[in-house]
Amino acid sequence: MLKTTSLLSRRFLLSSAASAGQDVRQMATASELARQRRSLQGRVAVVTASTDGIGFAMAQRLAVDGAHVVISSRHQKNVDEALAKLKSEGLSVSGMVCHAGVKEDRTRLLEKTAAEFGGFDILISNAAVNPDSGRLMKCTEEVWDKIFDTNVKSSFFLAKEALPHMEKRGKASIIFISSIGGYLPNCAIEFMGAYGLSKTAVLGLTKLMAIELGPRGVRVNCICPGLIETRFGDVITNDKRTPRLMRDNCPLQRNGRPEEMAGLAAFLASDDSSYITGSNIVAAGGLQSGF
Ligand code: NAP
Repeated sequence: MLKTTSLLSRRFLLSSAASAGQDVRQMATASELARQRRSLQGRVAVVTASTDGIGFAMAQRLAVDGAHVVISSRHQKNVDEALAKLKSEGLSVSGMVCHAGVKEDRTRLLEKTAAEFGGFDILISNAAVNPDSGRLMKCTEEVWDKIFDTNVKSSFFLAKEALPHMEKRGKASIIFISSIGGYLPNCAIEFMGAYGLSKTAVLGLTKLMAIELGPRGVRVNCICPGLIETRFGDVITNDKRTPRLMRDNCPLQRNGRPEEMAGLAAFLASDDSSYITGSNIVAAGGLQSGF
């Protein structure tokens, strides 16, 4: 008789066939798989910059999959409107103002969520700034600080501060948002050199945090979107300085949609990705990524 074990803790088990020299691997049953499938029931997620664009789509998808999602952005009006929309769809959401670049805002978001729900399981650090920083060698110290403060430093400290609230829950998944620009700093070299570089730093942040947190049972992954149809993406798409590489060299021949990033986030948040950590996953319609 095979002993019943949880799906994630299965090991090779020997059955009577073992005596015939065969190892028999205990496989999940269909009903176990169905229970596990993408379900975020009972989980709590915190998503920054989530009243519009990619962050909104991710928040919506996590809630559709069963999580309670805490949304946030800089403006109360945007938070209220996004909450109204998500609640009208019957989703379990709450929200508050949080400027991801402001330490006090980040702390309030994490502490309030932890106090209300006894911790949380999923953190998506989605906020980024992209001032027209020009070519790298033209970047001023002030612009450099603004970009790296929000895109790199804030992401790291958000995750670091979230850790005690997530670790104890047992299924913690941290998701950073980089960019195809992190691999291809030349994709918009004329107007966002330092931005691309900040997104390259996020790739390294993901790898290093995953190594340190893996033994503690916390997974850390990163999504690298290509050009996506959002306010931010539309600015890049419509900028004449965006090179042909981005415009014409995409095998899927189109920009992505926010919900296509949301499906990936739901996967990385769920048990379906339970053996994935330290991965920077490119979702860019086939645009080449590499250094
Ligand atoms: P977006 O459409 O411009 O989304 C803006 C959202 O972020 C709004 O909810 C906005 O609300 C909020 N927000 C902006 N700055 C914030 C801040 N400092 N703190 C908190 N919330 C803030 O942007 P997106 O295209 O969805 O981009 C999301 C992420 O994907 C970014 O990390 C970006 O670098 C990355 N990405 C995007 C693309 C693309 O083509 N779209 C490609 C590669 C990577 P408030 O105005 O109320 O703050």
